[in-house]
Amino acid sequence: VFQLSVPLNFLGSVYRELKQSLLDMESLFKLQKNEVKIKSLTNAPPLKLTKGGEVRFENVTFGYHPDRPILNNCSFTIPAGQKVAIVGPSGSGKSTILRLAFRFYDVQSGRILIDDQDIREVDLDSLRRHIGVVPQDTPLFNESILENLRYGRLEASDEEIKETISRVQLDKLIDDLPNGIDTIVGERGMMISGGEKQRLAMGRLLLKDAPITFFDEATSALDTHTEQALLKTMKDIFRKGSRTNVSIAHRLRTIADADKIIVLQNGQVYEEGSHYQLLEKPDSLYAQLWNIQENIELEEYLEEELEGTS
Ligand code: ATP
Repeated sequence: VFQLSVPLNFLGSVYRELKQSLLDMESLFKLQKNEVKIKSLTNAPPLKLTKGGEVRFENVTFGYHPDRPILNNCSFTIPAGQKVAIVGPSGSGKSTILRLAFRFYDVQSGRILIDDQDIREVDLDSLRRHIGVVPQDTPLFNESILENLRYGRLEASDEEIKETISRVQLDKLIDDLPNGIDTIVGERGMMISGGEKQRLAMGRLLLKDAPITFFDEATSALDTHTEQALLKTMKDIFRKGSRTNVSIAHRLRTIADADKIIVLQNGQVYEEGSHYQLLEKPDSLYAQLWNIQENIELEEYLEEELEGTS
């Protein structure tokens, strides 16, 4: 029995690690036939955070098909420790920026630097250990809530996991379940809501404790209440200054307090600045997007009010 359990345990941990590294990948895009094989250079050194996690795109050109660039000679800086938001019309390449920073793809020209190191020249695992992601749609494994959370950091103690659960406010849900934290979730287990899934993803992110985090806000609308609650949790968790915090935002309300907002259009940075700077800027695309959204929200609000009274 003893002899058998050693290799099995070993396989178990290899399997788990493999799954952990696939987790972010899977969530960001389904594995594709034409996926570019990205590898570390031989003897690539680990990433060293000398500035605390500054992400810089320098003249980056990239397209999934080389003849159709999504980013076109695009340059911007996400300063270390700041809260930065990336906004822009649908399809402008916001999520692509996240995929490039995580090195799912390499740029066609230009370069991406983290604390002045070209990400193609550092060890790939080390790069990915420094970046945490809350994807739009969080993949769950058909395993317990506990195990799903633990993929954030395999060696996390039960105590740390409990603390994380209360920080992302999943304790209410878990208390109400007959099997609690051991409840199996996922396609063949219990289905949990979009908001709860994102809380799980935030929990994983917290456990991973990466200095650079990307939050890809869900396009599919959560109800306003759930969304507000999630955002409040995010704010409490990722206080300014503690990490480089990049939000890919679809709803501008959620990022009005960012240190810097980067507005993308036609593959380039159209404008950047704080919420108020951008609202006051002449010919501001941000101001146009903001006004459209405010009007839509007002209409929705009025409709809800009307429904309430009828
Ligand atoms: P949204 O706000 O709608 O989420 P986005 O600004 O995040 O959009 P991206 O997801 O970065 O946009 O996509 C930019 C463009 O690249 C889109 O036209 C999209 O269809 C295309 N695209 C995205 N992923 C792939 C892929 N794996 N293969 C080919 N084209 C892709």
